[in-house]
Amino acid sequence: MRPGVQTLRARRSPRLQSGSSLISADSKPFLPYGRQSVDEEDVQAVLRVMHSDYLTTGPEIDAFEAEFAAATGSADAVSVCNGTVALQALYAGLDIGPGDEVIVPATTFAATSNAALYLQATPVFSDVRGESLLMDPASAAACVTDRTRAIVAVDFTGQPCDYDALQAVADAAGVPLLSDACHALGGSYYGRPVGSLAHASTFSLHPVKPITSGEGGMITTDDPDLAARMRVYRNHGIQSTFRERAQKMTWEYDMTTLGHNFRLSDIHAALGRSQLHKLPDFITARRRIADVYRSQLAGVNGVVLLPEPENTVGAYHLFVVRLPGTRDQVFEAMRDERIGVNVHYKPVYLHSYYQNQLGYERGLCPEAERAYDEIMTLPVHARMTEADALRVVETLTDCLKDAT
Ligand SMILES: *Cc1c(COP(=O)(O)O)cnc(C)c1O
Repeated sequence: MRPGVQTLRARRSPRLQSGSSLISADSKPFLPYGRQSVDEEDVQAVLRVMHSDYLTTGPEIDAFEAEFAAATGSADAVSVCNGTVALQALYAGLDIGPGDEVIVPATTFAATSNAALYLQATPVFSDVRGESLLMDPASAAACVTDRTRAIVAVDFTGQPCDYDALQAVADAAGVPLLSDACHALGGSYYGRPVGSLAHASTFSLHPVKPITSGEGGMITTDDPDLAARMRVYRNHGIQSTFRERAQKMTWEYDMTTLGHNFRLSDIHAALGRSQLHKLPDFITARRRIADVYRSQLAGVNGVVLLPEPENTVGAYHLFVVRLPGTRDQVFEAMRDERIGVNVHYKPVYLHSYYQNQLGYERGLCPEAERAYDEIMTLPVHARMTEADALRVVETLTDCLKDAT
């Protein structure tokens, strides 16, 4: 029925008992849950910038932003130095500040919520749907108050959220729908690319994400005023850049608001730009791994897969499964077998800082909390082979049999 797995299983030596894992591990390469795919073309792109006139605030930034906007079907893209400050620049660009509330899903990386805290705004946690672990529109609607300033959808794992339903919630609340699309570059929803699905969308270019610039971030939007405010915010609150002043032969500049230095360098942009050209191939490669997982794990007892609804294309930054009752045991056994499984995510408000310093309480988002006990992330990245994926499947099914 599953020839690849059967063959692998036959060749596989019996798993040694716990305590001997280091010995059994020696022959097996460690398979990380995510990693970059950088080739010689990427290296050459970086070297070209190293020999050019501008290492930062140069033409490579303009080109990267223009190409990123085109790739995401957006009017504009603003680069910044990581995905976390992309969120901060976006919230700041919308003038979100003290006393304001930002609705975020509980199941996300802490940065989605932390960025609101940097601006003295209050994150309000929406629960996720039990099936998809994506923001539940009904729960988001229940979080709306007269202090709500934005709703932030997170395309967890790279799977686009239910944007039509979330847009309706945002419209009813009279606030913009934003998208933390850090997982989802290259995905789409009813034929529309991720990055064009909300008022503005943020991206991370960290090495585990769909493409990388080393460190880097991007915000896409069709709102020219918002883009202009974010460009000022990333440059200390100063209206003009060094290059623009040099071109105008003037030293004069004015700082109009309090901003930061959140700029991306041209060196990073060169890598990101070169990687962007390979995005379709990367997504195809990730989806090939996801296909192996979906076909091989469908119907395996004890494994629950997250859906990929029709008319959506997931980018598969992560491949998350639920293992009710066995997660902890299977996680440990998989790590013993040198499979780099992980857990994404602990509901943000369960972190000590949120519990002890900010006073958020357990029980806020039951679906997210229930999921946290069951979820496990399987490796997926563009350099994985089908044999790697079959090794994961076979190890997982073996580990499940041993788990009680
Ligand atoms: C990675 C990530 C971020 C932060 O991006 P960095 O580039 O690491 O700062 C924010 N939100 C989500 C959902 C992420 O996965």
